[in-house]
Parts: sequence; C-alpha cells; structure tokens
Amino acid sequence: MNGNIPLQDIRSLNEEQLSEWVVALNEKKFRVKQIFEHLWKHNTASFDEMNNLPLSLRDALKKDFSFHKLSIIDKQTSKDGSLKYAFQLSDNQIIETVLIPSNRRSTVCVSSQVGCGLACQFCATAHLGYKRNLQAYEMFEQIFIANEESKLLFGYPITNIVWMGMGEPLLNYEHVVACIHYVSSPKGLGMSKSRITLSTSGITEGIRRLADDDIKIHLALSLHSAHNEQRSTLMPINKTKPLSEVANALMYYHQKTKLRISIEYLLLESVNDSLEHARMLARFCKQFPVKINLIEYNTHPYSNFKPSNTKQTIAFMDYLKSKNLIVTLRQSKGKDIAAACGQLANQTGMDSK
Ligand code: SAH
Repeated sequence: MNGNIPLQDIRSLNEEQLSEWVVALNEKKFRVKQIFEHLWKHNTASFDEMNNLPLSLRDALKKDFSFHKLSIIDKQTSKDGSLKYAFQLSDNQIIETVLIPSNRRSTVCVSSQVGCGLACQFCATAHLGYKRNLQAYEMFEQIFIANEESKLLFGYPITNIVWMGMGEPLLNYEHVVACIHYVSSPKGLGMSKSRITLSTSGITEGIRRLADDDIKIHLALSLHSAHNEQRSTLMPINKTKPLSEVANALMYYHQKTKLRISIEYLLLESVNDSLEHARMLARFCKQFPVKINLIEYNTHPYSNFKPSNTKQTIAFMDYLKSKNLIVTLRQSKGKDIAAACGQLANQTGMDSK
C-alpha cells in the first residue's frame, strides 16, 4: 500500500508500460524481458521469487505494484474426470474454471467476467447478474493453473482453451484479447491460436473487431434458435443484436479469417427441437461455412427447461446431416459437479455440503 491508495497490479501494465517503468529507474533493458517472463511465462508466485532480479529492483517493484494471485478455494472432481475450480480474486469475488480431459486432449474452460449480465433464460450464470470484467491476468492465471493441473493429473499440458465459462467475453474485449496475446506469444505460453475458441452470444461489434484486429482464433456463436423472435425471448441480447446483424458479422468474420464458424445449439424439449426449428437452423447455417454443435441441456435449479429426448435429438441431427451440414452432439462433462455448460453459478462443494 502506498498511503491509502491501493497499488496497481504489475500485470495490468502492457509490455511498453513495463519497459517505460524499468527505463525510468535507469535499469538495463534486458530486465524488461526478465520481468515479462516471470509474469507471463513462469507465473512466478511473488516478487521475492524473481530470483534473477537484483534485490533493489525487487524492492522497487514491491514499492510500486501489487501482485495478486488467484487462490483456489474449492476444487471438485466429476465422475467423468473433469474438474471444477473456484478461485477467489483480490476483491473476494469468486469465479469458476473447468478442466476437461478427453482422449489425449485437455481443455480449459475460462471465465471472462464475474457473473454475466445477459440474462439468457437457460443459463445458471445469468442468476448471478453482472459483477465485473476480469483482468487479462485473472484469465491468464486460470489457464496457467489449469495447465499445471493438467500436467500433474493427466500427464500432459492443456491442448485447447475455450472461452465458455462465466460471462460474455466480447463485452470484455481488451482484456480477453490481451490474455490471448500472453497465452499465444512465444514470450508467454506460446500456445497456438488454432487451439483457442471464443464463444459469444452474438456481440456484433466484438466479432467485427476480432476480425479487424486479426486475432485469428476460432469463433463459436451460441445460437440456440434461428427464429429471431424466439431467440429474443431466450436471449434478450437478440433484441438489440438481431439475427440478421449477427449473420452479417459472422459473414464478415469468415471473409476476413477464412475460418469455419462453430454454431452452438442447445436442444430444449418442445421449445426449439422441432423439425421446423431444424429447418430454420439449416437455413441460417447456409450463409457461411459452419460446424454445428448440438448441446444437451444441463438442468440446474435456476430454470425449468428440459433436455430434448433421444428420439427428437436424433431426428433433429439427422435432418441437419441430410442437408450436408457438419453436426456433432455434445454431451457436457462435469454435470454431477455443476461444471457443465451453463451451470457455473458459484455453487461450491462447500455450499452444497
Ligand atoms: N456468453 C458466451 C460464453 C458462455 S459459453 C456465450 O453465450 O457464448 C457457455 C455456453 O453454454 C453457451 O453456448 C451457452 O449458451 C451454453 N449454456 C448455457 N446454459 C446452458 C445449460 N443449462 N446447458 C447447456 N449449455 C448451456
């Protein structure tokens, strides 16, 4: 603490700002690289552990900056092997991260906000409301810790990163993109961007911005209904960002990146699972190259929807296949620990005991 003003976390500086700070202290330039690697390659636990820096520089860092690490306050393991972590942030807020193993793959599902303000009718996170955006370093640490856990528990590092945890990542654009930079840069974790997927409810400005900024990650749209009015009732964001505008933004994304778009479609019994809905979905998907992920609905205490039955699910899927669309059915992992899609609502194991 500096007087009563809380210090800024060192990781909220970008490389240029870090460099300016080092230069202002008359330190050598190579110190920037050393500090940067402590922050974004090694996730060093404290300033004291930055062993290759002189004591005077470590003291200067301590005087000017804070360095908050996430603390794991709960960890639950599902019968299917996936794990859910609850992390406490420096302001005591809680977020959740999921680590999902599946034959030689290990996927981390990252949260981008504390809670979410989009009020999607079927999602448990909506129940929390929006608290705040996460900083790039708070997302980076979820990924770093999941990577360490993956190596420890499964014997290999994470292979995929999906922004499908709590929150709407494109409403936290700068921090998410900064995190992607630290994760993919050779100076950071050096992971390929082809292994990163960002899922959005359809924030059109953000989709276009990702394309313009040449971020080149996979994009997934949470569609859930290709009928504009119905989608507005399920996902209120659709009232201001209607499907026609979302489709235009996706077309733009595809034109710029040449990447196939993933379409996420939750099957809700007697709501959006009729063949007429499948027809509307097929029509929507003809506008750009897509891969459709049908998602089994995960029940939770905050809404009354039911998953579609097997017969309806197969009929829906077969219809899409008959239209030559690429379709997969995703059965979420981690349901028994409320770690599956749309179930993240900070119900820790401790609460439920
Ligand atoms: N806000 C972003 C990121 C969250 S991703 C987005 O909407 O894409 C979480 C995914 O899980 C989304 O596709 C979401 O629609 C889906 N989902 C929400 N509730 C669900 C539930 N109960 N069962 C299965 N999937 C759910």
